[in-house]
Amino acid sequence: MKFEDYSISNEIKKSLAKLNYRRPTDIQFKSIPPILKGEDVLAIAQTGTGKTAAFAIPVIHTLHTKKIKKRADGIKCLVMVPTRELAIQIHQVFETIGKHTSVKSFCVFGGVEEGPQIAKLEKGIDILIATPGRMFDLASRGYIKLNRTEILILDEADHMLDLGFIKDIRDLMKYLPKKRQTLFFSATINETIKKLAYSLVSNAIRIQVSPKDPVARNIDHSVTYIEMDDKRFFLERLIKENQEQKILVFVRTKVRAERVQKAMERVNITSQFIHGGKEQAERKKTLDLFRKGEIKVLIATDVSARGIDIPGVQYVVNYDLPELSENYVHRVGRTGRGKEKGIAVSFCSAEEKPILTEIEGFLGKPIKRLEIEKGDYNHTIDFSAESHADWKTLISDHDDFITKGKKSNKKKKK
Ligand code: AMP
Repeated sequence: MKFEDYSISNEIKKSLAKLNYRRPTDIQFKSIPPILKGEDVLAIAQTGTGKTAAFAIPVIHTLHTKKIKKRADGIKCLVMVPTRELAIQIHQVFETIGKHTSVKSFCVFGGVEEGPQIAKLEKGIDILIATPGRMFDLASRGYIKLNRTEILILDEADHMLDLGFIKDIRDLMKYLPKKRQTLFFSATINETIKKLAYSLVSNAIRIQVSPKDPVARNIDHSVTYIEMDDKRFFLERLIKENQEQKILVFVRTKVRAERVQKAMERVNITSQFIHGGKEQAERKKTLDLFRKGEIKVLIATDVSARGIDIPGVQYVVNYDLPELSENYVHRVGRTGRGKEKGIAVSFCSAEEKPILTEIEGFLGKPIKRLEIEKGDYNHTIDFSAESHADWKTLISDHDDFITKGKKSNKKKKK
């Protein structure tokens, strides 16, 4: 079925055509009809599946056809998201899809001045996309009126729980009318998430996309064994052999993000890094450069990159394996967005093999091995433009990883 055949307003169809969305993705096909009917939905879908439009299309349609007049009453739809980057990104999707409609959307998040946000809220808006902290701050002081909210959307609920927002979500319920439509989206599911979900939705339609394989089918993902100290040579080679491609490199900590960037600089590779320690404006600038393709290599930590939708990322490199297995799914999901194809490769050192086993347990199946022959392995090291006499960097790279690993192991044991 094509979007043209859906019972949604022509104003929305016009935007979808402009975006070149002809047919719904799996999650859209399954979610749009029940959301249009006003049902509660509990959906398990990763980013990259088209989940944002899966709720944005029917919500915009519903509010547009109601022809809201009294904006001063308060917002009609609240979208809660874990990070400010995601808030900005989802807001853009609402703006793009709702461009020709009467629906007004806006987003609020912390870390920036609240004055302009308050001014905009006072003018009246229909759909608000918000991160929990700023949202409570503004709601408790009366700048956000939630008592007329008809639709509540929780996006990336699992990530919100990871970040400790459970209390905020529960507190939020006090401001919302009991009679409302609730749409609950999560990339992964476990007992805690299920409990939260069922406390919020009623008689929800359950939707799951690709339940057996949490990694989208259009992503070719594999793992290769590379010693910790050799990882940078392999990254260098991969980048130099794929110079036209956009490559997203994941590391475990911000210190490592900076180190890898410096290592690449030594071999004349331009890259930038983003991590939680950077200012919001700076992070946005870096992401924009990467989005436009002005920088081809971006080094990121999990927190900074979750949920970010950047088109045309051909390669994801797990320079370090993620400590949280589900982050593997989020990371590799940065490539192969929508209907594009993508490649993801993980560099696994001897120290990281237990993490690999955990990830494969989470996925429920082994990850394809990419064998590197000894000759080719040595050739990659020889291929490097770096002087191999730089033992200091090498040792500090190794030490840094080992110390961090030990710390996190200790945490786990507690
Ligand atoms: P999301 O999972 O919402 O982050 O979306 C992932 C990507 O899929 C985004 O780049 C969207 O622009 C793209 N996308 C969403 N829906 C469609 C569609 N029906 N056809 C083609 N691309 C889509």
